[in-house]
Amino acid sequence: MSNDKSLLKVRNLKIHFPVSGSFFSKPKVVHAVDDVSFEVKKGTTFGLVGESGSGKTTTAMGIMRLTHITSGKVEMDGLDITATDEAGMRELRRRLQIIFQDPYSSLNPRVRAGNIVREALDLLNIGDKAKRNEAVARLFHNVGLRPEQQILFPHQFSGGQRQRIGIARALAAQPDLIVCDEPVSALDVAIQAQILNLLRRLQNKMGLTYLFISHDLGVVQYMCDEIAVMYLGRIIEMADRISLFKTPLHPYTKALLSAVPSAKITDTVYSGIKLKGDPSSPIDLPPGCRFQPRCQFAGEICKREEPRLEKTDGGHQIACHLFREIPV
Ligand code: SF4
Repeated sequence: MSNDKSLLKVRNLKIHFPVSGSFFSKPKVVHAVDDVSFEVKKGTTFGLVGESGSGKTTTAMGIMRLTHITSGKVEMDGLDITATDEAGMRELRRRLQIIFQDPYSSLNPRVRAGNIVREALDLLNIGDKAKRNEAVARLFHNVGLRPEQQILFPHQFSGGQRQRIGIARALAAQPDLIVCDEPVSALDVAIQAQILNLLRRLQNKMGLTYLFISHDLGVVQYMCDEIAVMYLGRIIEMADRISLFKTPLHPYTKALLSAVPSAKITDTVYSGIKLKGDPSSPIDLPPGCRFQPRCQFAGEICKREEPRLEKTDGGHQIACHLFREIPV
């Protein structure tokens, strides 16, 4: 169930954190998120993908106002989240829910599973006691848990079942947007597939919109309609799923894809572009292109100018001076 209406619009989002230097040095800044812009259409899944430290989770935290935004604008359904007061944020927190990476630590170990899900209904003051009981039972059913499991505590569930409780808790608030922050990376591979299938089934049934964060291109390929690849706080490539996996343009995207055989959807053999070294520090960024110290194609211009994200004829957006000259 998808349409072209944007639910979420992120414009030039910047999140910087000051870090204190030593007595003799100037204070420094962590460039966690820099000039990030994208839109998420209703009923679809938008993926943010990148290595650890790329800024994908900080972007989501900024959207949810769970961290300070340095500048930029975030709109949900026309409402400016960045300018909303505390009362408005309470309503927004219902409309924006999150499924966390670690189902072990995201559930209160002293609260029974049924009550974990019911708390969201209580907070929203939805219906009377009988109606809330019905809603909890329905949510348990929808995520594949049995009604009698409501009385169990989190430690009595497996990892996959705990993530199902987390999903039911997010759904209880009837949110407009669910942020899925690496929702399967702490689970065994077989269980990962079950949870991803559940998220897709729920999306088809309820028209849910997901902002899906992952370092795993195979997972992103399975889940997402549109994808932004992040590197050191910036989006370096953005496209719909088919184009991104069929014709990746940025050397970083190509290197990520060559490392994940399961993420290929064509017979294209990526040209063995390998990632060398580690990403630069977000406190001490290299001049020009942030990927330049790791890029085997870097030219003089790459050391001088930071490439901007620009549209290509094929519908991608890419930040690379030399992408036309790079082999497939
Ligand atoms: Fe590599 Fe230059 Fe493109 Fe950056 S701009 S990815 S350094 S070729």
